[in-house]
Amino acid sequence: MNSLRFKALEEASSRPTVNVELPSNKVSDYYGQNVFDLNTMQKYLPEGSFKVLKEAIDKGTTIDRKTADEVAIAMKTWAMEKDVTHYTHWFQPLTGATAEKHDVFLDTVEGGKAIEKFSGGQLSQQEPDASSFPSGGIRNTFEARGYTAWDPSSPAFIMGKTLCIPTIYLSYTGEALDYKTPLLKSMHALDRAAVPVCQYFDKNVTHVVATLGWEQEYFLVDNALYNARPDLVHSGRALFGANPAKGQQLEDHYFGSIPERVNDFMRDFETECYKLGIPIKTRHNEVAPNQYEVAPIFEEVNIAVDHNQLLMDVMDKVARHHQLRVIFHEKPFAGVNGSGKHNNWSMATNTGKNLLSPGKTPDTNLLFLTFFVNCIKAVHDYADLLRASIASAGNDHRLGANEAPPAIISVFIGTQLTKVLDEVEKKMKPGKTSAAEKKSLKLDIGRIPELLLDNTDRNRTSPFAFTGNKFEFRAVGSSANCALPMTTLNTIMAEQLTQFKKEVDKLVSKSKSVEDAILEVLHGYIADSKSIRFEGNNYSEEWVKEAKKRGLSNIQNTPAALELLLAPKALDLFEEHHVFTRREQEARHEIQVEMYTKKIQIESRIMADMAYTHIIPAAIKYQNSLIENVKGIKEIFSSQHELANVSIKDKGLSDAIQDGGHGDYLVDSQLSMIKEISERVSIIRSNVEQMVEERKKANQVQDATEKAFAYCEKVKPYFDEIRYHSDKLEILIDDSIWPFPKYRELLFVK
Ligand code: ADP
Ligand code: MG
Repeated sequence: MNSLRFKALEEASSRPTVNVELPSNKVSDYYGQNVFDLNTMQKYLPEGSFKVLKEAIDKGTTIDRKTADEVAIAMKTWAMEKDVTHYTHWFQPLTGATAEKHDVFLDTVEGGKAIEKFSGGQLSQQEPDASSFPSGGIRNTFEARGYTAWDPSSPAFIMGKTLCIPTIYLSYTGEALDYKTPLLKSMHALDRAAVPVCQYFDKNVTHVVATLGWEQEYFLVDNALYNARPDLVHSGRALFGANPAKGQQLEDHYFGSIPERVNDFMRDFETECYKLGIPIKTRHNEVAPNQYEVAPIFEEVNIAVDHNQLLMDVMDKVARHHQLRVIFHEKPFAGVNGSGKHNNWSMATNTGKNLLSPGKTPDTNLLFLTFFVNCIKAVHDYADLLRASIASAGNDHRLGANEAPPAIISVFIGTQLTKVLDEVEKKMKPGKTSAAEKKSLKLDIGRIPELLLDNTDRNRTSPFAFTGNKFEFRAVGSSANCALPMTTLNTIMAEQLTQFKKEVDKLVSKSKSVEDAILEVLHGYIADSKSIRFEGNNYSEEWVKEAKKRGLSNIQNTPAALELLLAPKALDLFEEHHVFTRREQEARHEIQVEMYTKKIQIESRIMADMAYTHIIPAAIKYQNSLIENVKGIKEIFSSQHELANVSIKDKGLSDAIQDGGHGDYLVDSQLSMIKEISERVSIIRSNVEQMVEERKKANQVQDATEKAFAYCEKVKPYFDEIRYHSDKLEILIDDSIWPFPKYRELLFVK
């Protein structure tokens, strides 16, 4: 009996419930209590400093040293009232996790005494010992250290006993080493490009922000069972595991109620989130067993990204209290649905207008149509960049796996809006639209809001779907930092709107009316971007063929997707909008490529280890018991004498006696099992050996991209073969000696 698995099973099945005490029955009583938000700032700051800080938050202006000192004192006072002892700069390096380095609020003073201290300098800048964070060679070349710099646009918060200050992370030469810096820059780019377009319609618009509402999917697994699976622990996904008899085919989990233990966990982490001002709105079961989703009310993209990263941290911590583990991997369990993180994205103005929501008047509808069509055009022109923005080793398993959008980027808008675009295309004849056509087109545009009211067609298979008042980018992976896809979306939209403005102004300068000019340019975009629009089933084979005919890319793996980042068009775009310098892009490409290689390398090592040191020994152990059994049977039945004494009713047995009486017939099935085990063990062994050889070869490759391709194309293909035979062994051999918790245990034990 394998002790680890059975101990884990016993532990998992006898968990006491964790008592969750809510601070109050009213969330509003404690919502945001651990956030240094505007209200708190106002309370703790002198009026002058509050004004400066507020302006920095709203307009991105700089904060002078005196104000920074006052903010630091205010933060420290507030935090210490809440028993906080340490502070940290909280940032999002390219590892994908968040990082922090805790310092105590302390300074020594003469006479061996100490005082609690936190200065503007400490608030504004910190130098984490960051030599191990990826920098794609930037830091190495310049031998510069990285530093973190306070981002006042995202409020400080308390986690445990630590004050966390959201920061960006830069090299000393000014290159961004994190996710946040380019995101903030892309927001400026979008703001710069979108405001003038809005002003065609409304001069009061002076500021545009991108908004994001993410939907986070995840799995839960009991802590003990998780720990008994080295693959889950080290790679975040099950590298082995046969499908259980009962998987997700009944879909009972999706509609089912949430188990109590899970519910407790949810209430607990949601409470922590509320204290941190994360506006969690919905929770529900997902399709796969033990899969769930949590979604907040949308926020400005910068805050939403921070909140998503924070949520993942909080969930991980709280889950451990409940003896659970949260799994954010995109495809932790082959054979059941993977996890995504839909990114609902739109743009909002300082006047409170959602730019992807049609308005009440024809004018505001044209504003909507303008942003809507420009967005489709942007996705059409830069589909490859969106594809690259969601590339990761984990997401490779999910995209196109008949449960998630394929790797082909396309846009779904629904039949009603398709009709509207068709009408614009038909009625708008650049230069010679008749008055009647124009009038009729205006009517069409005026009707958009009603059309959308009964917009019930919801395509669930599209990677980029319009859902009434926002686009939903569904191809984002569950473990991803939303910043990268959002940075990309903001930037391509900024570029698109810039072009749009130029074209409209050109027509206006030739004495066209603004409205006609807008319609004329949109008309051209609608025609030009048609190939990206697809209303059918994105999971179907036909779509793959159709997309190919249309010339759309279908990029299947991460190394290939990442190459798109180095296309001149991509480099120019980000440089043009001051989001990434060329060096930053090259560095980022290198980091991502290396990250991919490392992930596959780790998976490959764990696979070899689990196969050699657990699975094969278990198989051989069982095989030995079969061999013993066969020997025993043969021994018992080896003499006619003994056989004659056995009372035999079974016809087969008497045949066996006549066959020569050595019991071969009786052990046929054991012999075939022994043979099968030998065959599978030897296939596993030879595949592992070859995989290790390929790994050695790949490790010799110097160029980072080539190495990633070697891992993708030469090493990874062995995974399936090794797993296939191992999973066959799992369903063949004695349950009591199988070393790892099985799917049915990982996914169903509550
Ligand atoms: P569903 O897509 O299931 O109909 P909702 O319409 O409530 O659900 O939206 C799903 C997510 O989209 C939520 O996180 C929500 O906050 C977000 N969302 C709604 N409006 C916007 C918007 N204007 N910008 C960004 N996200 C939005
Ligand atoms: Mg959704």
